Amino acid sequence: MTRVLALSFLLATTAGAQQRQLPPQVRLYTSVDAPVVAITNALVIDGTGAAPRARQTIVIEGERITAVGSADQVKVPAGARVIDGTGHTVIPGLVGLHDHMYYSSPAGGSMKMMLESYPRLFLGAGVTTVRTAGSTDSYQELNTRAAIEKGLRVGPAMFVTGPYLQGPGPGPGAMHPVDSPDDARRMVRYWSEEGVSWFKAYTQISRAALGAAIDEAHKHGVKVTAHLCSVGYREAVALGIDNLEHGLFANTEFFRNKQPDVCPSAGDSAIFAEADTDNPDVQRTIKEMIAKKVSLTSTLAVYETGTPSRIPADPRVLDALMPEAAAAVKRVYDNGKNAKDAVAKSVLKKTMAFEVAFMKAGGLLGAGSDPCCAHVIAGFGDQRNYELLIEAGLNAGEAVQVMTLNGARVLGIDSRVGSVTAGKQADLVLLRGDLAANPADIRNTVTVFRNGIGFDSAKLIASVKGQIGIK
Ligand SMILES: [Zn+2]
Repeated sequence: MTRVLALSFLLATTAGAQQRQLPPQVRLYTSVDAPVVAITNALVIDGTGAAPRARQTIVIEGERITAVGSADQVKVPAGARVIDGTGHTVIPGLVGLHDHMYYSSPAGGSMKMMLESYPRLFLGAGVTTVRTAGSTDSYQELNTRAAIEKGLRVGPAMFVTGPYLQGPGPGPGAMHPVDSPDDARRMVRYWSEEGVSWFKAYTQISRAALGAAIDEAHKHGVKVTAHLCSVGYREAVALGIDNLEHGLFANTEFFRNKQPDVCPSAGDSAIFAEADTDNPDVQRTIKEMIAKKVSLTSTLAVYETGTPSRIPADPRVLDALMPEAAAAVKRVYDNGKNAKDAVAKSVLKKTMAFEVAFMKAGGLLGAGSDPCCAHVIAGFGDQRNYELLIEAGLNAGEAVQVMTLNGARVLGIDSRVGSVTAGKQADLVLLRGDLAANPADIRNTVTVFRNGIGFDSAKLIASVKGQIGIK
């Protein structure tokens, strides 16, 4: 049965602009599936960093965008399914670089894989590609990726990371404690051969193990990112790392008395509030990252958990969470307003400034939601990131670029996704409203196109009601 479905999907898609045969569990969520589709008169923010363009027509044939341009110039092909984009914005599908497939409920209990709900919620919220950025169950992720690729399941394109590369430390948990460079190489080799495309090194890794892991990964054509603590950013850059997670927040080189290979204690964190972007140490970090082409993942939405007084209540999050988790998050929304979090708020502002400075200096900045916990869940966290990038000082064109084409560049897929460009894969988000005028319109997803098939955002989001935290 499975094989027949996969085969029929493949046959249908390779036939180009023919009607595709989707299995019922996928068709349940589709709203646009026609050989030729034209979205007319929409505002387009194309992902390249260009200014928004009004009154655009986009033609999709099969899986590809075949034309984009002024509504006066682009002809709508005869027989096309026409979607009136008046009053709407089209952006590329979001590329989430730190988009885990697990969630840990604030009501207690352990981290759980969200393999039923998260793929649908990511897609419903406009995220068409994810990198899982640290996995607690890489086989589950590889199998989910395979099912999505075969067209048997609904979800974003997935770049699966291997299990976390963590140093020895307090267990138990889902992470193997890497205790030597050889151990790091063994782990990287095994999972690279199993098909992961990235690794994420974690807080307690040593410089020796990280260096070995990077070297071994690169031999297999696999890349390495990290949420660092025991190792500093400049050290990791010198070791050849490809990407760093969490902006300024995770760079312990800005701590006083940092000891090699040791993660400083949390009590020292106030120093972040003192590190300005024009600080020579910060500038040197930015320069060295750019010189070695090390990209940076912005995760502003998850930072906001540290500043409860400014977290905007999102009723969609409460709807999607299982009841106990929703009650816990509602308490955060209600009580957070009175939190004494002035220092954390100033750190958040510095983090924003650092990310903008990195980008303006020529650094490759992407974004991810880190939908691990609390109110930060798949897709909605990515949308919040967009709003925070605007607050950080980017304009709409730049913020969309960070969320789309830049992510595609980090993943090495920018020749086929990441922008609204003729010839590229039709991964697009149709939003109600004018995103250039109202950043919150990023939440108004109507139709999310992946490979030219339009998915009904409301149906996907409704399908996970009460499920986040369960499955
Ligand atoms: Zn994370």
